[in-house]
Amino acid sequence: MNYDVIIVGAGPAGSTAARYLASKGWTVLILEKDVYPGEKNVCGGALSKRVINNFHVPTKVIERKVKNLTLVSPFNTQIMDSREGGFGVATDRKIFDRVLAELAVDKGAIIQTDSICTSVKIGSDSVEAIYKKNGHEKRVTGRVIIGADGVNSLVAKQTGLRNNLTSYNVAIGVEYEIRPKNFDLCNDFEIYLGSNIAPAGYGWIIKKSDYITVGIGSILSRVKNPKLLLEYLVKEHPLVSKKIDGKILEHKAALLPYGLFGGKIFSDRILLAGDAAGFTSPLTGEGIYYAMSSGELAADTINQALGENNLSKQSLKSYQQQTDHLWANDFLWGVRLRKFLFENEKFADVIIKTAQKSENVKKIIASTITGELTHRETFFKMLPYLPYAYLKSKLG
Ligand SMILES: Cc1cc2nc3c(=O)[nH]c(=O)nc-3n(C[C@H](O)[C@H](O)[C@H](O)COP(=O)(O)OP(=O)(O)OC[C@H]3O[C@@H](n4cnc5c(N)ncnc54)[C@H](O)[C@@H]3O)c2cc1C
Repeated sequence: MNYDVIIVGAGPAGSTAARYLASKGWTVLILEKDVYPGEKNVCGGALSKRVINNFHVPTKVIERKVKNLTLVSPFNTQIMDSREGGFGVATDRKIFDRVLAELAVDKGAIIQTDSICTSVKIGSDSVEAIYKKNGHEKRVTGRVIIGADGVNSLVAKQTGLRNNLTSYNVAIGVEYEIRPKNFDLCNDFEIYLGSNIAPAGYGWIIKKSDYITVGIGSILSRVKNPKLLLEYLVKEHPLVSKKIDGKILEHKAALLPYGLFGGKIFSDRILLAGDAAGFTSPLTGEGIYYAMSSGELAADTINQALGENNLSKQSLKSYQQQTDHLWANDFLWGVRLRKFLFENEKFADVIIKTAQKSENVKKIIASTITGELTHRETFFKMLPYLPYAYLKSKLG
């Protein structure tokens, strides 16, 4: 046997799992298809504070503190909120993912980059992964495998665990990196609602050190041409088009889970973590926190199972019990909130008008965006305001 644990994917889920397992003394191999972790990642790079605090991530990944937030309704009603201590931070995934992988390597994990995993087989007493590096096919064996290879997870498909990607449970995200001529016109984090921007999602601006990420994300089934929506946001939106006039540095697109949760994510000798398991907020699209948390939970479960030399599905199922308890129910509340807020323009406008007058509503909105409130908590805190907003949106 080559390794105790094989991990496919050096994103936040895979590197966090590797760091934990290597620190417990297990031999860990990560296979990463890109030349370096984060090389081709597509992401706004907004991190809630819990990412930095819970996972001891070095502050060198921080490009900017997010000190102010703007939320704009489909009819351009706006609220702005600011916190001296910051709502969270903005990072560059090319740096963030590399730093997370280095933390795992510091603990003893081995990473093979430029190595695309092409096949996974689960045997009765081992797992086998085939990967391609420099045109050569290689084979490696382990006692257990973690599929942390993102939303299009090969590991999930090949092991028959998850094959349920549809245009209704994933979102398409497209974004530009732009260096605007007048950087100061943008707030640290801006969110734009409206069907001409993102029919079941939202548009965003996230400020980095000297450039911005501007993007849109929406459920795939509701979008015909995502690039056109982004072009509208950048070039025609009455507020955004006045701020963004700089050079486009990069243009990227990717899928993200947006309601893809609830499937089976464990079996004999295998667990799925992060996007591969469908863990992103179906409201905000936040995924990095869930990737790292699920990576750590998966690693904890495997650490115990390796210690007991029992890697059967009965032994590994406690992982799914924990993630179901933590997130599956809560994500259903996220789906409900998304339908209310992102798919009903008048309703969203009334809520943002209410927040202009009520500090309490403004606080609830900010704490939802930052992940300080669960989706369920948001729903019940907003409940007193919903009947009025609903009637007002219907009656005008
Ligand atoms: C446009 C967009 C914007 C987003 N913005 C944010 C945001 O601002 N904040 C936030 O919290 N979340 C955001 N997300 C979500 C977030 O990016 C993901 O939830 C998060 O990256 C999931 O981490 P992961 O480790 O599970 O998967 P990934 O980050 O996708 O990592 C998977 C890794 O596996 C590797 N890999 C894949 N297949 C193979 C293979 N066959 N062999 C070897 N390696 C393989 C990949 O190269 C990659 O390094 C955004 C997503 C999108 C699409």
